[in-house]
Amino acid sequence: MSIFSHPDFDNHEGLYTFSEPESGLKCFIAVHNTNRGPASGGTRFWSYADDTAALTDVLRLSKAMSYKNAMAEIPLGGGKAVILKPEGEFDREALFTAYGRAVEKVGGQYITAEDVGVSTDDMRVIKTQTDYVAGLDDGEAASGDPSPHTADGIFRGLEVAVKHKLGVDGVGGLIVAVQGLGHVGYALAQKLKTSGAQLIVADINQEATQRAAEELKATVVTVDQIHAQEADIFAPCALGGAINADTIDDIQAYIVGGAANNQLKTAEMGRALMDRDILYCPDYVLNAGGIINVAAEVSGTYDYKWVDGKLEGLRVTLQEVFDRSKSLGRPTNDIADEMARERLKLS
Ligand code: NAD
Repeated sequence: MSIFSHPDFDNHEGLYTFSEPESGLKCFIAVHNTNRGPASGGTRFWSYADDTAALTDVLRLSKAMSYKNAMAEIPLGGGKAVILKPEGEFDREALFTAYGRAVEKVGGQYITAEDVGVSTDDMRVIKTQTDYVAGLDDGEAASGDPSPHTADGIFRGLEVAVKHKLGVDGVGGLIVAVQGLGHVGYALAQKLKTSGAQLIVADINQEATQRAAEELKATVVTVDQIHAQEADIFAPCALGGAINADTIDDIQAYIVGGAANNQLKTAEMGRALMDRDILYCPDYVLNAGGIINVAAEVSGTYDYKWVDGKLEGLRVTLQEVFDRSKSLGRPTNDIADEMARERLKLS
């Protein structure tokens, strides 16, 4: 497996591999950039097809965290970890204990929190081995699951997007297609519903869709049709790659914006969305609410006023992305990358 010539290698400052046969732990921890502070980003626990897929994920996700943290103007660098989910039976506590030891060995260059497949309970286990952990339920500055704050930031950003694209104030009366009703997707759907939006939803988990149908009066569609709905907004809140060569031509929405990291399968998809007159809210700008909350916890004195101020800052940054994109005729993802690299002082 090549690292330095890997297409997603971006002069990452560090890439760590850890394995512990006793617990079944196999993980990568990637530190992309620490110019703004210690690298922080969630840990993903996922069944990868192979190690190469996991490596690609950690390289891409950690870089996106540098960009996200820079765009959110928080004093953290970018990093990410992925744990390869063992096949068959395993002892979850032993595995996350071993992972906590791995985080400790990175010596504070990387501070972890939750990502897909990892809960606050897992965070508690990791915390038994290391202090370089946030997103905890209890403790001095504990701030809990960051997902509701991620949903809050996305909601605020979507308000900016609908004003910019559709000239309306708020999401009332709009139709939003939500792909994935997990920690963030469901919280976002609740906020949208409360603000008068109509929901179309899909998830591979039928319990989640049933709950959304009952509680939020959402229309449920299949996972292979959610992107193609006649909606004002398509909100990808599952895994990455929702916008790809197979889905792009079917997207009917005026706006794409949601929680998932790496929504564009390739950067060219940003241009393709623009060519179709669809406004894309760059994922790492829109979904920074959770890491903003984590940054408040990492500071040692959690202050919601600071969090709220940074969430409001997301509106300003997103508006700047949209304005620059419009005046320069360049895709929003391209503009966001440029702004992030400026803020990171990278060439
Ligand atoms: P989650 O695991 O709680 O939810 C993901 C949901 O997507 C699950 O309900 C799952 O069943 C569903 N899903 C999986 N494949 C699907 C498919 N093909 N079609 C429809 N639904 C599918 O994860 P989460 O914490 O809600 O995060 C969602 C996304 O947002 C991830 O990409 C994550 O990296 C990103 N994100 C999360 C946070 C956070 O604070 N949790 C912050 C930033 C970004």
